[in-house]
Amino acid sequence: MSRPAKISINLDALSHNLSVIKSKAQGSKVWSVVKADAYGHGLSCVWPALSHTDGFALIELDKAIMLREQGWVGPILLLEGFFKPDDVYLLERYSLTTVVHADWQFEAIEQAQLERPINIYLKLNSGMNRLGYRPEDYQQAIQRAKGITNIGSIVQMSHFANADTGLNMATQKQIIDSSMVNDLPRCLANSAAILFEPQTHHSWVRPGIILYGVSPSGVWQDIADFDLQPVMTFNSEVLAIQSVKKGEQIGYGSRYTAQRDMRIAVVACGYADGYPRHAPDGTPVIVKGHKTQLVGRISMDMLTIDVTDLPDVEHGSPVELWGNQLPVDEVALACGTIGYELLCAIAPRVAVEVTINVANSTFSDLNESC
Ligand SMILES: *Cc1c(COP(=O)(O)O)cnc(C)c1O
Repeated sequence: MSRPAKISINLDALSHNLSVIKSKAQGSKVWSVVKADAYGHGLSCVWPALSHTDGFALIELDKAIMLREQGWVGPILLLEGFFKPDDVYLLERYSLTTVVHADWQFEAIEQAQLERPINIYLKLNSGMNRLGYRPEDYQQAIQRAKGITNIGSIVQMSHFANADTGLNMATQKQIIDSSMVNDLPRCLANSAAILFEPQTHHSWVRPGIILYGVSPSGVWQDIADFDLQPVMTFNSEVLAIQSVKKGEQIGYGSRYTAQRDMRIAVVACGYADGYPRHAPDGTPVIVKGHKTQLVGRISMDMLTIDVTDLPDVEHGSPVELWGNQLPVDEVALACGTIGYELLCAIAPRVAVEVTINVANSTFSDLNESC
């Protein structure tokens, strides 16, 4: 017997979204970004549905090795680079491409005893001010990379701070353009830039959030015209119904006071499942196909919703926290965050159900890895 809180992962939607991205960025190769366990979707289950990608990009070295062990032979990119000098040997052994953003990484690659060169993405800090070489130091870093025999191919990489809002994009593009005056391949575009800034596509693009059918801006209407489909649906069920009198209060801290006599449905899902505890009253939720709202604070294992005007809702009625009927962007907006954070927060105790069209040829690839 499992708890009814589960995520359902639609692999056809994932595969479809990659095809949409490929047709949007024709002429560019695609790194499918699968960091944070494929944005909470479960990397080992979902990657075969993306096997028509050109490469996988992620942060976690152990997950990169897992991809190799599960049979992915194409390119893999470590978006944050490697973390310790000795990691260079793992890069060689598993043929991993790495970001280089600091001098100590050059030294580690230079000093390693390698039989095969390592391909690198040389990071330009174009204004995000997290990782990379500043524009005035970038050409020198390219020269250094070219002089190291342990380094194979070099791609110029930068990351946009504001591609989702358009803010500062123009200045940031100027910085990038003036720093990258040479003929090395380039890789700049994240999801937002892929959709909204086609002139940034270049040799490789790096879509993350749009693969999963979620908006990079936090507003789902911004992606409504791109034919992207939600991949994750977060479901549960009604555990109990309570009748509450006007003036009574609901849940921890008595946050919500009934404005009238109410029917309240208690749902088997809480913050220990990854539903955000800071969700306010009024956050949308779907029960038995009807849209309603949260009332009262989220508990560890339960949440409460208003079903006063929904007499057909009863014990066992299906609840959708987000997904097919309710974009996660809408829930995130109500909670003052973005879809990214909610997807990544799904807790390990939540059961995962993978759905795929059986006629789809990727089905047999999946059996072993899930
Ligand atoms: C996460 C990440 C991406 C993907 O970002 P999205 O907004 O999800 O498309 C691209 N590039 C880098 C360097 C990243 O860390």
